[in-house]
Amino acid sequence: MVSNDIFFEAHLDNIAYDLAISPPVLYGEEAKQAAKIYGSLDRGAYLWKNRENTVVLKNKDSISTAAHELRHAWQHQYSHTSFNYKLPTKKQSRFHAFFSRILYWLTYFFNPKEIDADKFAADYCRRNKLTYDLRKVREQIIISKISRVGIPIGLIFMLSCVTYLIYLLITING
Ligand SMILES: [Zn+2]
Repeated sequence: MVSNDIFFEAHLDNIAYDLAISPPVLYGEEAKQAAKIYGSLDRGAYLWKNRENTVVLKNKDSISTAAHELRHAWQHQYSHTSFNYKLPTKKQSRFHAFFSRILYWLTYFFNPKEIDADKFAADYCRRNKLTYDLRKVREQIIISKISRVGIPIGLIFMLSCVTYLIYLLITING
């Protein structure tokens, strides 16, 4: 019986080998510290904005998360321009950094980086018959697809309501 950590690390090496990348990978407390300037660490992240080129993972428990974040490192190394990894030209103000983070989360499901990283993670789990991880990443992909349809419909609906209200206000006063 192979321990979970060894199983996880073997997959991590395998993913990095598949992608021909070797970024530093940090875990746990060290990962949280490294990601601190970007906000709290959810499951994992790929840090690049300060030229870190580092993958941070909260735990050694999700191979699909590791595959997703390592794929970002691959995008950064091999497909820099098409995935739009532009370093900020000057030091961002706190305010600017805060809004760019909000904007990132609002557009998360539409972001080609995220769509590609999820697709890679799903392919990796499928190829390696990691049933549990494959199910998790598939759920994530379904949520993402629903949001790509649902968010625009919601926005159009909200805009229509606002427009209708404005129309009502104008006609009542007129
Ligand atoms: Zn991502």
